[in-house]
Amino acid sequence: MLCFDVDGETTALSENAALASRRTLMSQCEYGPRIGVPRLLGLLKHLEVPATFFVPGYMAEKHPRMVEAIIAGGHEIGLHGYLHEKLAYLTEAEEEAILLRSLEILTRLTGSRPAGFRAPWFEINPWTPSLLVKHNLAYCASEMGDDVPYFHENGLVEIPGQWMLEDWEQFAFNADPAWGFVPENCEKVFDLWWREFEAMHDFGCCFVLTLHPWLSGRPSRVRLLESLVTAMREKPGVWLARGREIADYFQNHPAARRELDFDAAPKPEPAKS
Ligand SMILES: [Zn+2]
Repeated sequence: MLCFDVDGETTALSENAALASRRTLMSQCEYGPRIGVPRLLGLLKHLEVPATFFVPGYMAEKHPRMVEAIIAGGHEIGLHGYLHEKLAYLTEAEEEAILLRSLEILTRLTGSRPAGFRAPWFEINPWTPSLLVKHNLAYCASEMGDDVPYFHENGLVEIPGQWMLEDWEQFAFNADPAWGFVPENCEKVFDLWWREFEAMHDFGCCFVLTLHPWLSGRPSRVRLLESLVTAMREKPGVWLARGREIADYFQNHPAARRELDFDAAPKPEPAKS
């Protein structure tokens, strides 16, 4: 699963609204939706690969043509907060209000109701799965508890990620506010991600790569993604799919589920779709 978290301007604004006056910082964030997304859409089209874009409501409102282009390319758009809020600092009522607001915006701008949710910063609250089921979301892609999808206790499908398969840790940098680290060489990152992919392929896992267009839309990193996807497709049995399709597949194929888990509670019945 290729995920693009289009945080753009909200990367800075969710930290501090006053950062809106930092022109260089904001231009770096805007590079994602303005330059990175069109370039990445071009690559996905060239490779004929579908992807899932998690877009904060604020970003969808600010860049409606980007939303149109993502949908026109055959990709999925999922929820990612309104202003990329950290859920851990919200009450349940605040979290639900943001969920409803971003659901309304994305439904209106994409023409269909989103099926998936990726928490900003990957962190969810104990009540998040019940809010997602209450509002008819099909899956969450925020936890890190396995390397194949699994069910939350209420039957919600989780498509788990991991920090190693994220571009922020490899490429993010800003001087002030201080973000990230020294940007890594693409060759090292290819090696990191490819080794994990190859091993996950052997173990029969679900490889979930999370990229940010303001980072991975830079030219050498678009080349990196092209090399990675091209190599991945040469492996037998690889299925590149949108989150919505992965959640559906998992619901309908019990054999895809993890059998060996020492702490597993009796498995909940899958929610009827
Ligand atoms: Zn994000």
